[in-house]
Order: sequence, then structure tokens, then C-alpha cells
Amino acid sequence: MHQDPDTGGVFPDLQATFPDDTQTPVPIPSNSVLEAIDHLTDGYFEMDTEYRYRRVNPAGLRLTGKTRDEMLGKHVLEVFPDITNAAIHQTTMRVMETGEAASVETYYLPVKRWYVNSIYPISGGIALFTRDIHEQKVLEQNLAFLADASKLFSSSLDTQQTLRAVAQIAVPRIADWCAIDLLTAPGKVELLAVAHVDPEKVQWAEELRQRDPVDLERPVGLARVLLTGEPEFYPEITDEMLVSTTRDARTLALARSLEFTSAMIVPLIVQDATIGAISFVASDSERHYTPADLNMAQELASRAALAIENSRLYAASQHAVALRDDFIAAASHELRTPVTSLKVYTEVLQRQAMKRNDEVALRSLGAMNHQIDRLNSLVVDLLDVVRIESGTLELRQEAFDLRHMVDEIVDVTQSTLTTHRIEVDGAGTLAVAGDRDRLGQVVTNLLSNAVKYSPAADRVLVRLMGDEQAVILEVEDFGIGIEREHLPRLFDRFYRVSTPDEKTFPGLGMGLHIVQEIVHRHGGDLQVESAPGRGSCFRVRLPARDLPARPGGAAEMAPA
Ligand code: ADP
Repeated sequence: MHQDPDTGGVFPDLQATFPDDTQTPVPIPSNSVLEAIDHLTDGYFEMDTEYRYRRVNPAGLRLTGKTRDEMLGKHVLEVFPDITNAAIHQTTMRVMETGEAASVETYYLPVKRWYVNSIYPISGGIALFTRDIHEQKVLEQNLAFLADASKLFSSSLDTQQTLRAVAQIAVPRIADWCAIDLLTAPGKVELLAVAHVDPEKVQWAEELRQRDPVDLERPVGLARVLLTGEPEFYPEITDEMLVSTTRDARTLALARSLEFTSAMIVPLIVQDATIGAISFVASDSERHYTPADLNMAQELASRAALAIENSRLYAASQHAVALRDDFIAAASHELRTPVTSLKVYTEVLQRQAMKRNDEVALRSLGAMNHQIDRLNSLVVDLLDVVRIESGTLELRQEAFDLRHMVDEIVDVTQSTLTTHRIEVDGAGTLAVAGDRDRLGQVVTNLLSNAVKYSPAADRVLVRLMGDEQAVILEVEDFGIGIEREHLPRLFDRFYRVSTPDEKTFPGLGMGLHIVQEIVHRHGGDLQVESAPGRGSCFRVRLPARDLPARPGGAAEMAPA
């Protein structure tokens, strides 16, 4: 049997030394069991019902840093006076009382490590096994921390905000202060985020960087990381190191006042290119970075790099969208004038051809006029889209009968149609308040889509309904319909359902976007039901408002 005089070894004579006269005698485990306990790498502690230690194995003594004499026969709170309210003691008491095994994790401060304690009821007391789970626990904590960090990083697409989030999450978890530098232009390094446990020191950290800017010509520290893409690791920062790396006495004093003890600088890498670096600095004399910390910092940096890249890509795409919008705005304004002139000149030519009875010219001019109308309606739609984007689509407000307005539009549309019959269902006045022309545009658009997307059908249905709350307009066709997957994006700007027949259905995907905006601005909503090959039904719901027409005409309507 293994005996270890320093740590106490196995204590076969304990029962004799500490008789428990209130209980039945404690059976002494067989020698082989005791030997096994003695050789355990886990700590093993036995207590009697009076909370006195009656057996401790060598690993247990090593772990607690106590000797056999300091523990055996002593009450647990005499040996560890500070643990009265600690989870381990509370759990031990519960096991004693209930007789049910339990386990509890503890962070043992004197050795700064995590343990799991499994406590079992045994005859005449409890047995407690203590296993060191420090590495596993730290790994778990790191993974949870990285998961939290990733969540935080993905919550913003603003680069500056992402950088601040990275710096802030690192403090105090990994560092007492954290700085992020990015290469913002060739050879240009900018300090874009700093966080410090002591917010007052942020300013000192910034000042230190100003006094001692990164010099890419002198590849040490941060500059080296930026140039090589390799991390720099300083487990221990000595005063000599500060003396040898600072430029002048003032900078040295500043560096000293920040009390660096340990540091690591890890690169931010996107697609093999170093875009910047994160510096983690500890200023607590107890804290010295380990290779495990460096791993963790690199892991955090790789997630941060991804988040930074995402924010950058987002900013670039926003910029591209803004450029496109500016171009559309300029182009639609520029196109408007020549299209209007073309229309005027065509009409002049048409009148002249009519006078001359020139059938051939009239036919060509008729076709030309039709194309100019199409061009004009595209330009008008483009201008509307621009107005929607810039928030300048103005609406007038007047009370009118939707039913009457729909009848008028249906008559005009029907007069130009030979392929479809438009049937209107629903009688009676339907009073609404809003912009008559804009709501007319909604009806025209839905009708022309219904006709355009039902080439094999011969009718379109318009239904009008209303009660005190709402007025409903439905436009139903029996055409090609729309696959379900497209419905959620159908009203998006420039969204088109691409079908193999695309050529048959020209368009730019602006109509429904404009329709939706007009309907929303009137406090209404727009819905669609559709099945491929069966047809589509678009439903506009507007609030019913029985407003009297205001003297003096229409007023502008507030956005919905
Ligand atoms: P456009 O018709 O100019 O492409 P819209 O914004 O009016 O633009 O319509 C967007 C898309 O919705 C169209 O490209 C088309 O695929 C689909 N769509 C609209 N109305 C209908 C309809 N009545 N039947 C089938 N598809 C339709």
C-alpha cells in the first residue's frame, strides 16, 4: 500500500482515531479500495455527519495545500472558514440532509482553477471527489465567449460600430485594454477603436499612439504584425522593453503609466490580406498571457475580421446603390424632356398626315406614338421610383367615389383592348379619401398587369366591396400566375419574376413597387394570392373615409 508521510497517504486507522459514538461503526473499506483511492488523481475527501474530515487522499491534500494534521478530525469550516455560503458547502449540507448525490463546479481561488465536485452519501457521512476540469471549463467559456462575440459582431453592419463592439467585448475578458488599427490606405494605419477597463486611460492610450505613431518602415510590434500577418506575443513586458522601444522620455513616462505587463497583437486577415490588427494589453501584474490566450485572441480576430469585411462590403454595396439611385434620378429627369418633345412632334406629324390622308404615314406614326407612350410611361415610373426613394412623392387629399373612378379607368382601358373583357362586380358608392390620380394609377397598373400576364385568357375581373371600415378593390386574372417563392419579394423595387418567357413580358419591375407605396401612403395594404397556371388576384384595401370635399381643393397628405 502506498504511504506518503507528507500528504497523509491512506488512513486505515481513522475509525479508531475518530470514533463516532452516535453512529454505527463505519466499515473500513477493503485495502484494495483504499489503495485505489490513494492513487486517484482526483481529490477524495470523506466527512462524517458532524462535517469532520475522516479521510483525505494525497491528491486532495495536494489540491488544498493542507497537511493531514490540518484536516483530519477537523470540522470543514475550521479548515476552510470562508466557505460557509459557498456552493460547495451548501451542496455538501444538502447531500448530508437528503442522502441524494449531487455535484457542483467550483473555482478554487488559491490555485485559480476550476473543479467539479461530486458528492455522494456514504454510511456515516459523505464522500467528495474533486476533479480538475480547468482546461475543459476554459475551453467551454472561450467557446461561449466567441459565440457571444460573433452574435455581437453580426448585429451591426456599421464598420465603426463593429470595431467598437470588438474592442469592448475584449475588455476585461481578454485584456485590460484593447486597440484596433486598420490599414485604411496603402501605408496608412489608423487607430479606430480603443477600450480600456479604466475609461480615463483611453485618452492616454490614444495619446501614446499619437506620440509614437506606427512606422511601417520600422517593423517592430504592430507594424511587424501588419507587414507579416503573423501575431506578436509578449507574455512579459519588462521596463527594459519599454525603455528600448519608446522614442523619448515623455513617451516612456506615458507608457510606464499605462502599466503594461503582458501583450499580444494579432492580425486581422481577410482573404489572405492583412487589413489591420488587434492589440490586447494586460496591465494587471497577475496577468500574463499564455499560448492558449493567444489562440483565443486569434480566433476572436478571425471572427472580427469577417465582421469588419461584412460591414465594409455592406458600405460598398450601399454606396453602389446610392450611385445607381443618383444615376436613375438624373437619367429619368434628362429623358423626360426629349420624350415630351417627341410626343409633340409626332402629334404634329400625325395631324399633317391626316390632312394629306397619308394612310402609310399614319400607320407608322401610330406605331411610333404607341412606342413613345411606352417610353413615356417608363420614364414616369422611373421618376416615381426616384420620388419614393427620396420621400418626395406627394399626394393630394380629396374625397371621391372609388367606384366611379374605377368605372372610368375600366372604360378607357377596355377601349384599347381587343383580347380581354374587363368585368366589374360590385355596386354602390365607395367613398375614399386620397389622391384620385395616384389611386387611379394603382388601378391602371393592376389592370395592365392582369392583361399582360394572362395572354391566353379572355377576361379580367374587378371586384369592389366596402363596409364602414374599409374599401376593397380586387383585380383577378386567369393567367400565368406566380410561384409561391416569389410572392414575398414581388413588391420590391425592380423585382421581376424571371420566366423562360421573359421576352413575352417586357417590364422593369417598378409597377407593383409604386402601387404598394401609393396604397401604403393612403393607410391601406396590398396583398396577392396566386397559383402558377391558374392566375393571380391582387387585393387593395383602403380605409373608408367619408370625408366631404374640402372647399379650396386638395391638401397634401401626410405619409402613412
Ligand atoms: P413589370 O410588370 O414591369 O415587370 P411589376 O412591378 O408590375 O413590373 O411586376 C413585378 C413582377 O410581378 C412582374 O415581373 C411579374 O413577373 C409579376 N406579376 C405582376 N403582376 C402579375 C400578374 N397579374 N400575373 C403574374 N405575374 C405578375
